[in-house]
Amino acid sequence: AYIARKDAVEPQVQAFLSDNREFALEAAAAVDKKIAAGEAIADLAGVPGAIKDNICIKGQYATCASKMLKNFKSPYNATVIEKLMDVDYVSLGKTNMDEFAMGSSTENSAFQITHNPWGLDYVPGGSSGGSAAAVAAGECVWSLGSDTGGSVRQPAAYCGVVGLKPTYGLISRYGLIAFASSLDQIGTFTNDVEDCAIVLNAVAGHDAKDSTSIPQAKKDYKQALVNDVKGMKIGIPEEFFGEGLDAECRKALDEAIETYKKLGAEIVPVSMPHVKYGIAAYYIIAPAEASSNLARYDGVGFGLRVEGKDIVDMYIKTRSEGFGPEVQRRILLGTYVLSSGYYDAYYLRAMKVRTLIKHDYDEALKQCDVLLTPTAPDTAFKIGQNSGNPLAMYLGDVCTVTLNLAGLPGLSIPCGYKNGLPIGMQLIGKALDEETLLRAAYTFE
Ligand code: GLN
Repeated sequence: AYIARKDAVEPQVQAFLSDNREFALEAAAAVDKKIAAGEAIADLAGVPGAIKDNICIKGQYATCASKMLKNFKSPYNATVIEKLMDVDYVSLGKTNMDEFAMGSSTENSAFQITHNPWGLDYVPGGSSGGSAAAVAAGECVWSLGSDTGGSVRQPAAYCGVVGLKPTYGLISRYGLIAFASSLDQIGTFTNDVEDCAIVLNAVAGHDAKDSTSIPQAKKDYKQALVNDVKGMKIGIPEEFFGEGLDAECRKALDEAIETYKKLGAEIVPVSMPHVKYGIAAYYIIAPAEASSNLARYDGVGFGLRVEGKDIVDMYIKTRSEGFGPEVQRRILLGTYVLSSGYYDAYYLRAMKVRTLIKHDYDEALKQCDVLLTPTAPDTAFKIGQNSGNPLAMYLGDVCTVTLNLAGLPGLSIPCGYKNGLPIGMQLIGKALDEETLLRAAYTFE
């Protein structure tokens, strides 16, 4: 049924970069056999999903939507894929994204533009726009994305689905092609909060292959699905509700706050004076790390190679042809802020601001259990509307990037509509307290 649905809507939505139906049908048949034999199966067994194209699956393309990796097939599985194999997962294919996860609209893909299922002239958000659109269009039940500065939560908001970016270190990044390593985290897209807990159960957990992975006992996140927020303290950081937030989005969020009050939660106003520097700090730190991570695409080890008259010429030709304009912009920004003479003024200063932002979150989360904010200042924008204006695109990330700087978990859940497009609400939790986030979201839903 999902393959038929995918065939019907994919020509309009264009969420997928590759199709995996043969493997999917085989995997589903294997689950059927288990059921027929009376064997127990996992919650996720046989349920069709999709995987962002920056997550490695052995023998399959992992293009990062870049010409640089157009012909790259991964020789190994990401740890999340190994974990999904343990629960008999089924994936219908790899999903479209902004090239190397840089962007907020999926328009930076070298291959195609994904359309928002709620309005085909609108972007699905990004960079995990394909994963969000695939779930929203009913092409699959769940998907994985990655979130470096909002790339799971913002497309979830634009596409009206639930998107979770867990605590930095909860899900292994082994086999996730790196963008900015101190910020990158794999996250989930689902139609509802229960499915979110189920997918999180499958992919979370310590991994010795990722040095940033946190050793802790495995949890059952389904136990967090408690329909009760009585006495829960929900913090409202005023800085997220100021100038720039669309009036109708604000109204939907105010109504959500009222709903929580009626459900017995306590609303606590909090202040986070440094989050206003979030975009500036993020757009120094993320490109700095990206410029370093992307140095590996040199035409030698793997990926595209364009011959030149000598090795330097080969590097230049390979990288000029292989990387699209946004990726080149990030590499230029990143190498600039890291260069001697500028390092102290930009990178070091941004790292100090990062600490102040982390401190703001620590203080705010001492006063409450979760924070409630918009996921984005407005609903999805039209395809092409921001593509010539990188700064406008960057400013749209104002609600999401600070969580990555602080390493905290965040979840986006639909809270209303404006002109037929979904509005997203972001819930932010304490580190490794995904349970309270899920509980708050589940009760709201
Ligand atoms: N939009 C942000 C950026 O372009 C975040 C991307 C992401 O989370 N991968 O960097």
